[in-house]
Amino acid sequence: MSMRTEAFEHLNNFSENYLSKYSSDRNFDFGKDNRTNTSCLSKYLTHRVIDELEVIKSAHSKYSYLTIEKFIQEVFWRTYWKGWLELRPRVWKAYREDLVKLEEYKKNINYQNSINAKTTVECFNDWAQELKETGYLHNHARMWFASIWIFTLKLPWQLGADFFLKHLLDGDAASNTLSWRWVAGLQTKGKHYLATSWNINKFSAKKYNNLKLNENTSPIFESENFTQVPIHFDNLVNENSLFLIHNLDSCYLLKHKQKTFNNYGLFDFNDVLDKENYSKNVLDFKAKINLEILEQIKSDFGANMILKNSDDLFKVIKEKKIEHVIMPYLTCGYENDFISQLKDKVKICYLARDYDQFCFPFSTKGFFGFKDQIHKILTKFL
Ligand SMILES: Cc1cc2nc3c(=O)[nH]c(=O)nc-3n(C[C@H](O)[C@H](O)[C@H](O)COP(=O)(O)OP(=O)(O)OC[C@H]3O[C@@H](n4cnc5c(N)ncnc54)[C@H](O)[C@@H]3O)c2cc1C
Repeated sequence: MSMRTEAFEHLNNFSENYLSKYSSDRNFDFGKDNRTNTSCLSKYLTHRVIDELEVIKSAHSKYSYLTIEKFIQEVFWRTYWKGWLELRPRVWKAYREDLVKLEEYKKNINYQNSINAKTTVECFNDWAQELKETGYLHNHARMWFASIWIFTLKLPWQLGADFFLKHLLDGDAASNTLSWRWVAGLQTKGKHYLATSWNINKFSAKKYNNLKLNENTSPIFESENFTQVPIHFDNLVNENSLFLIHNLDSCYLLKHKQKTFNNYGLFDFNDVLDKENYSKNVLDFKAKINLEILEQIKSDFGANMILKNSDDLFKVIKEKKIEHVIMPYLTCGYENDFISQLKDKVKICYLARDYDQFCFPFSTKGFFGFKDQIHKILTKFL
């Protein structure tokens, strides 16, 4: 079964059997063998094996908007965070700069114990273990984990975000970095998220006695103020073109089956991510998606080209006399950083979906402002 079919089957099963209870049940973490109260679609959505509108349309075909409003809003959190970071790419850049400065800190015993599930906080160790084994954590566990990391274990939030991004199958630069910033109190300035033993024991399946958490501490502060910049969306020029699909918008070509470009290929970012120390689980998952994308471009366009680095790209450009390289829009993240540094040498055009172009500019302030636009967005796209 293809991953896309698997995603749709999963979505249908969730919609038919569990979605109507999502808003009341979603905050419970019933444990890794009982994950039906949330959709678990994130690993597919991050790679757009299935996209946001497909998920919303399918759910909405079974229930009224009001019954599933909470679920739809959660899907829009993803879009909101992505738009927010696109409008402030310096936040991602500053995070990467901080990680370079923190490289030495990785030798710290407290950090090593934390990523190896050997702290004195039992629930934290359970989640660290679960994350490494499964590539997933429930949203509430992610909040507790991040809060304990920052406020009880007193570790730099950037290293926690890095640990998550490299182990989550749904790892997404925007949702992850900004959620960690939110827990720390940097995103909504001065408002942090403090995990409490009461809350953990109410919502987690496993009960933990004697949790000693720092439940009374101040948020983190930062000196830099991040200003908004307009998002630039490229216009398409497709003479002598090479279209490079990638796995952060895996179903892009399913919506654009007509042959528009002269050449087609796949850009496989796994070597780039491997150099950044992404976990084997995540790289294997991405490799599986890449294989499916390759099958698809083979059958739709007779293409079998896989590029993995800049040398591969320059070679093809020379051999095929390519003038324009076109890719589905890459939002902030390691993949975009890699491609962006090639942009002075090669003309690379990012094709943004209408949905992203329409939604991202709404992420100027907090989610409540964005939420007011959801009806407008759905009227336009459903
Ligand atoms: C510290 C921290 C780090 C996180 N890192 C990521 C990440 O790297 N990638 C990621 O996709 N999500 C991240 N999240 C958000 C959220 O935890 C996951 O999207 C969610 O747990 C995925 O499970 P699900 O598919 O069952 O979600 P559901 O509750 O079924 O929601 C449906 C979909 O909506 C989206 N969504 C739901 N909640 C959020 C949210 N708070 N923010 C953004 N999108 C959301 C996801 O695409 C999800 O698949 C993070 C949250 C925290 C607190």
